[in-house]
Amino acid sequence: MKAVATPDPLEEFKAFETTPGVNVIVLPDAPTFTLVAASNDFLSLTGLRKEDILHRGLFVCLPQNPNDGISTREQNIKGSFESVIKNKLSHELPSQRYDIRDSHGNFLLRYWKYKSFPLLDINGDVAYIVHNATNITDDAIAEKNFEGPKNLEKDYRFLTKAPVIIGYVRGEEYIIDFANEGLLEAWGRDKSVIGKPLFTAIPELEDQGTRGLLDHVRTTGKPFYAYGFPLLLNRSGRLETIYFDFVYQPFFQDEAEQIVSGVFSVGHDVTAQVLAKKEIESTEKKWKELADLMPAIVWRGDAEGKINFLNKRWYEFTGLSEDASINFGWTQVVHPDDIEASLAIWNESLSKGQFYQSELRYKHHDNSFRWMIARAIPIRQDGVITSWYGTSSDIQEHKQLELLLEESVRKRTLQLEKSLSDLKYAHANLEEFSYAASHDLSEPVRKFQFYSNRLKEELKHILDEKQIKFFTRLEQSANRMQNLIQNLLEYSHASKGSQIFEEIHLETLLSSVLEDLELIIRQKKAVISFENLPTLTGSIRQLQQLFQNLVSNALKYCKADVAPEINVVSSITTGKTCGKDLADDLTNRSFYLIKVSDNGIGFNQEDAEKIFKVFTRLHSSDTYSGSGIGLSIVWKVVESHNGFIWADSEPAVGSTFSILLPVSQQSENDPLQ
Ligand code: ADP
Repeated sequence: MKAVATPDPLEEFKAFETTPGVNVIVLPDAPTFTLVAASNDFLSLTGLRKEDILHRGLFVCLPQNPNDGISTREQNIKGSFESVIKNKLSHELPSQRYDIRDSHGNFLLRYWKYKSFPLLDINGDVAYIVHNATNITDDAIAEKNFEGPKNLEKDYRFLTKAPVIIGYVRGEEYIIDFANEGLLEAWGRDKSVIGKPLFTAIPELEDQGTRGLLDHVRTTGKPFYAYGFPLLLNRSGRLETIYFDFVYQPFFQDEAEQIVSGVFSVGHDVTAQVLAKKEIESTEKKWKELADLMPAIVWRGDAEGKINFLNKRWYEFTGLSEDASINFGWTQVVHPDDIEASLAIWNESLSKGQFYQSELRYKHHDNSFRWMIARAIPIRQDGVITSWYGTSSDIQEHKQLELLLEESVRKRTLQLEKSLSDLKYAHANLEEFSYAASHDLSEPVRKFQFYSNRLKEELKHILDEKQIKFFTRLEQSANRMQNLIQNLLEYSHASKGSQIFEEIHLETLLSSVLEDLELIIRQKKAVISFENLPTLTGSIRQLQQLFQNLVSNALKYCKADVAPEINVVSSITTGKTCGKDLADDLTNRSFYLIKVSDNGIGFNQEDAEKIFKVFTRLHSSDTYSGSGIGLSIVWKVVESHNGFIWADSEPAVGSTFSILLPVSQQSENDPLQ
């Protein structure tokens, strides 16, 4: 250190303190450059106290900002001092940055112009160096630093109209140098904010952390990215929350020196998207809450049906964890016997994009299985399936009831089948009995007739008139009994059905029946007509019985004073058009419709069905003899030919018996089919 021949420099330079500007006097004791005097402006600018700095090195009192990126600032000033010492001439430093600490010790960006000149002693040596610093921070930044953004605005006017938000704020005060229309709109402000400090123009930003973020970007030089960042902005008189995606990008005045001069912001107003997303999230939340309230299991799957949501019921029922449920899906709880069928239906629904439904058993957490009805529907957007929604409802009770019902129907059917077969058996026995009884009875009756006849012949010369009448009554009763037995035998025969079916020319058959009845026809002067009767397949004997009974009834139940007129006609019809309600499978079958009508005494239509029952008679046997078996034989004959019969009648007008006989006994031979 150089010796200084000054008794009290402090006193000597007292007047120096009042010099205008930032001035200091230092000793030429490189590299310390001890401070011996400082102007009041220097003290107020640096916030330092005189007593703390005098007799200390200038660069100890004012250390260089270690973060400004350039390490030679201090060296440049020292170099200037050394030039003064060496050349004993003043020396100037062009604009240079040298940051000064504020009262909190934080460095503030500052630019200076420096001028140093020597104070020589009597020997002509440099005794002191007077150092003057001029603060040119604003000018330096204004001149150099902002050429970039200003040019940007000039050269790239399209930025103003760009569909993004672009802004540039300068310096520590964040003067708004540039704000495009998008940013002004987002702020809810007009162009008048340009040129104003950001937090004066948009004061509501102050409390929302924006300053801290900008400071951080400006001082660290690191960009800051934000997505869906909410800001409360005073737009048209009220505070609104606006969401932004943006980046705060540091703008360097000098890339090499990393002088930071301001912050660029580029971004988007994403409020609509954020609100839509929030809305979707809230709808989704509500849907899930609703799904949890449902008594059924509710699930949702993606387009491929892979489950991504299951409601509470599922977890309560299965006892499975969410991981297991989502990863392994619903099939893990399906009963092994149901899995194949339900998967087949599900896969078909998936491939065709159609409604799914199946009944299957799910395993409860207590290891029991319960019946469920599972349903699912695809949800489409623009015709493309985006998801599947499904439910599974417990139908265990319903299923149990169904099974019980099925079981009871099965049992009932079995019972009914048994009753039916018992009935058939009883009926067959009865018919067997009636046949046997009739057959066995006919012989004693014949003998009774024979011997009573012989007895009458042998005794006829000794019998008086009254006794002869008794014999006649005896004969009549025996004849009636024989007739009844004959009818019963025929009925039994018709009941058994005929095994021999052959081709029958009905007109020929009817003619032979009429021949047998010739006597009575002549007696009654009856007129009988028939035409176009078909040739059909059937039993000759049975069809003979049929016509025999119908024609003889028509002759028997005639009016006393009117000659009987009997008409037999035939036509072809179908099950649908025949005039009778037949089973559905017969509607298209063809039938011969044969009608036998008379002009006799007729009967009430309400009796039309019961006359076909055995032993049913509507008229008194005093006037009209009979056994009540004839029409039941007719019924049996029609039945064994797979046909139908019914009667239409009106008292005192006449009766018509309609007989439907299939055109062909086998449907494949049916000419009309
Ligand atoms: P029946 O031996 O009494 O004639 P059917 O079984 O042949 O027995 O007939 C049953 C009853 O139907 C008859 O008693 C009669 O009252 C009534 N009946 C049958 N055919 C006719 C007809 N053509 N006209 C009026 N009534 C008839």
